[in-house]
Amino acid sequence: MSPDVAPIYLDHAATTPVDPRVARRIADVLALPLGNAAAVHAPGLAAHQLVEVSRAQVASLIGAAPEDILFTSGATESNNLAITGTARLAAQRGARPHLVTLATEHKSVLEPVRALQAQGMTASILRPESSGLLDPQALAAALRPETVLVSLLHVNNETGVAQDIPALAAICAARGVALHVDCCQSAGKLPLSLQDVALLSFTAHKLGGPQGVGALYVSPAHRGRLAPQMLGGGHERGLRAGTLAVHQIAGFGLAAELACVQREAESRRLAGLRDQLWEGLSQLPGALLNGHATARAPHILNVSFQDIEGESLFAALPELVLSTGSACNSRSAEPSFVLRALGRDTELAQGSLRFSLGRTTTEADIKTAIAAVQRAHASLRAHCPAQPLPLGGWVTDPPAQLWVGEGGARRLGAWVRFVVLERDSLVQEARVQVYGCPHTVAASRHVARQLTGQRLGGEVSATGLQPGLPEQWLQAVNGPVEKLGRMLHIEDAIRTLQRSPWPSR
Ligand code: PLP
Repeated sequence: MSPDVAPIYLDHAATTPVDPRVARRIADVLALPLGNAAAVHAPGLAAHQLVEVSRAQVASLIGAAPEDILFTSGATESNNLAITGTARLAAQRGARPHLVTLATEHKSVLEPVRALQAQGMTASILRPESSGLLDPQALAAALRPETVLVSLLHVNNETGVAQDIPALAAICAARGVALHVDCCQSAGKLPLSLQDVALLSFTAHKLGGPQGVGALYVSPAHRGRLAPQMLGGGHERGLRAGTLAVHQIAGFGLAAELACVQREAESRRLAGLRDQLWEGLSQLPGALLNGHATARAPHILNVSFQDIEGESLFAALPELVLSTGSACNSRSAEPSFVLRALGRDTELAQGSLRFSLGRTTTEADIKTAIAAVQRAHASLRAHCPAQPLPLGGWVTDPPAQLWVGEGGARRLGAWVRFVVLERDSLVQEARVQVYGCPHTVAASRHVARQLTGQRLGGEVSATGLQPGLPEQWLQAVNGPVEKLGRMLHIEDAIRTLQRSPWPSR
């Protein structure tokens, strides 16, 4: 990629670029002589008025009454308040609260649920079907007399799978259980009825607003069942203390209003682009769609690629900004727990790419993205373990001799196979097949180049192949020291090569 071409941003599910109209609004509000929105003097009342206009804009995005909206610092806080606030108040009133959620929820739901379990409360963490959907019967079976809250995502942030909230909400309502819905990814994209919903979390930065501000809808029926978690000056009807960030809230309000106006047309446009993207990617051998084919949001497409290592695929796409299940991007060594819960193995969970589209995405971006993935996929797949031995163009008749050596294993995240053409005890050419991270791939290719012209043949001996040491290979490809173990797989492949004329004699 040429350095002056900006990469294409396809990570709108992580955060959306702020809409320029929203950015201007925030700057304008910051320039106003406003007081604290809790104060009763004129500058305070002016701030209060701005907050209330925004509250009405945010409320109308989800079809709520303004007085049912609380402002928070984002959906993480909204989710924590909804879950912990409901469970703790029930416990204070003498219940032994039981919670229900799904294994593929956002961590801002799973972590508070785990924390409450550690404090002695009980929870059922349900498994989704392999489509990512929750079976309504499984939900019904999990509800107990002491269940105080069910917490579910409307649209999963990794896969884009959309749960049938009205059907699930009706099950909760029939059993008298409150339902909390995290609709961060669906607000402004999919319609959602508040019928039988007690609590609903969403956030500004997924819909063209600023980061650091979100909202929690609390139904009138649930208001007396929620305890504040942030204590102080009793702001937000006593449910969330703290001075309100008026400029952020004003930006959120405008972003919500714009999303409301554009929702239907923009969702149709994004769904068209998403389908075009899948149409292009599904042609690639081994491409698998993660999650349900039709019950999904318009802007998220998650794809795994068989036989392709995730980190190498991600590294081969510098022209795209997106998310991957591979360790290098997620900043954790774990493969995506969401894809694992859908039944994908570690390799497929790590080899996944999440494309998420938004306001700035164009048809040209989608075409570029398809071409980029096709190119990266072809280059990595040409050397992947699924391919036959790479003997093209070689004359292998005696006295020429082939040697083949393998090291590592795909389940270890690195596998290398060297194939060497030898004549008169000299390496004529060495080729490599490799599955692994970019450093493993680069180091294997480096070692293959070192082998040409070296002496090979007969027994393993001190005069055998000497392509250097693992530390030197790592240095040659600027690899971090944590990758030294992978270099040892390359060394194993060289060692077995020297014992392995092919076909074996
Ligand atoms: N829930 C979902 C589904 C999300 O995608 C996110 C964003 O990462 C959050 C919650 C957390 O939102 P925030 O960044 O506003 O805390």
